[in-house]
Amino acid sequence: MSAVVPFRRTKIIFTLGPATESEEMLEKMIRAGADVVRLNMAHAHHDWTREVIRRVRTVSARVGREVAIMMDIKGPEIRTGDLATPLELKAGEIFDFTVRPGTRDSAEEIRSVDVNYQNLVNDISVGSIVLVDNGLLRLEVLAKSDAHIRCRVLIAGQLSSRRHINLPGVKVNLPAFTEKDRADTLVGLAEGIDFVALSFVREAKDVLQLREFLTAQKSTVRIIAKIEDQSAITHLDEIVAACDALMVARGDLGIECPFEELPVIQRRAVRACLAQGRPVIVATHMLESMITQPVPTRAEITDVANAVYEYADCVMLSGETTVGKYPVECVQMLDKIARRIESEDDLDDREPANFTGDRMKVLHSAVVLANEIPHSKIITFTRHGFMANGLAALRPVHAPILAITPALGLLRQLRLLRAVEPYLMPLADEPDATIENALALLRRAGRIAPGDKLILASDILSLDRLVDSVQLRTVT
Ligand code: PEP
Repeated sequence: MSAVVPFRRTKIIFTLGPATESEEMLEKMIRAGADVVRLNMAHAHHDWTREVIRRVRTVSARVGREVAIMMDIKGPEIRTGDLATPLELKAGEIFDFTVRPGTRDSAEEIRSVDVNYQNLVNDISVGSIVLVDNGLLRLEVLAKSDAHIRCRVLIAGQLSSRRHINLPGVKVNLPAFTEKDRADTLVGLAEGIDFVALSFVREAKDVLQLREFLTAQKSTVRIIAKIEDQSAITHLDEIVAACDALMVARGDLGIECPFEELPVIQRRAVRACLAQGRPVIVATHMLESMITQPVPTRAEITDVANAVYEYADCVMLSGETTVGKYPVECVQMLDKIARRIESEDDLDDREPANFTGDRMKVLHSAVVLANEIPHSKIITFTRHGFMANGLAALRPVHAPILAITPALGLLRQLRLLRAVEPYLMPLADEPDATIENALALLRRAGRIAPGDKLILASDILSLDRLVDSVQLRTVT
């Protein structure tokens, strides 16, 4: 039976992992209302990637609900090397990060680990802070040479193999789109992914580099820029302008920036997206305690609610659905919280979007009309996503946006947009016939009924020319 997921404005993204990769679990996740599946390429091999993308497509087709696939590529990531056994680092201990593996004398007394980035010694300064493994270990740089960086351990802990390194405030000169990213993306494109999420975007040109690559591959995949460090915050508006959607990647942001800045950054980032009409995702630690517990903490519930109050397009799950014990319950929980908050009338004041262009003004008039007519629904027809994207960006207060598209790829991409419910249907040459077909489809789907007020944002034929129009109709 086709999955019918009741209307929810806020979309749900989950990260695929051992807890959710089976056909059975995927089906449960999609039926529970997940909209987008994220593949975290930091942990993925190409064979696994191909296999799970095909599996998501098979299960979606069987369930009758096409979800989108986001490939999250690692970007410029610095990691420690392999260790035969984990090291217990003690507070006050002197410890080296070696950038030229194999140059150390094994009799040397100072313990060390390799790092995968040679130029680190040029980027880092004495006094810089090195955070390892999500900030669990904290070290301060005392000195550096061609071969290593010498540090003092400030916060002790265990160091195991291939741990992620963060360098708050340090401008790292690694390329934004690495060889690994290129290879991963090519696999994704061959398998028909819908979004590429680029990690550690620091400025707009990082996004443009990926866009050039995608254009050369003749790809219509959309780019999600992940903001994760201080440089991204400095260049926020230009990054928002360059990308197709933004992800507030709070995991790394919370390490790279003072933690009390995090809520301020989230709010600024969501508003910057609303102002420019870009979809925005609030990610990471939304229901972290549900990795092991069947119910979230009160603080997590409030955090999810806050993202909905802020008008984010999507909320995202990571560890909760890769290794957690309650992945389906996590989707159900997000669904329940989002639906409840959306039913409130006093969400945050929306920043007025600063849109120019006649077409956007026509869409604006459709949203004004929908806001004035209780229980109305917006219907739009979209070939490239412009109409649906524009309407979603204007954040109608009550009305759903029922978006009719002839393209399956676009239908999946529309899953990211707040309040958009996409439907697949070929568009007839005659705009009137297209409208009639769409109304019949929505009637069959139980989405419209006699007496409903519809606001149609579409092209109509006038003296042989297509013109943008807004119509108000009552379903008969
Ligand atoms: C994050 O840091 O919040 C994030 C989503 O990125 P990743 O999981 O790739 O570290």
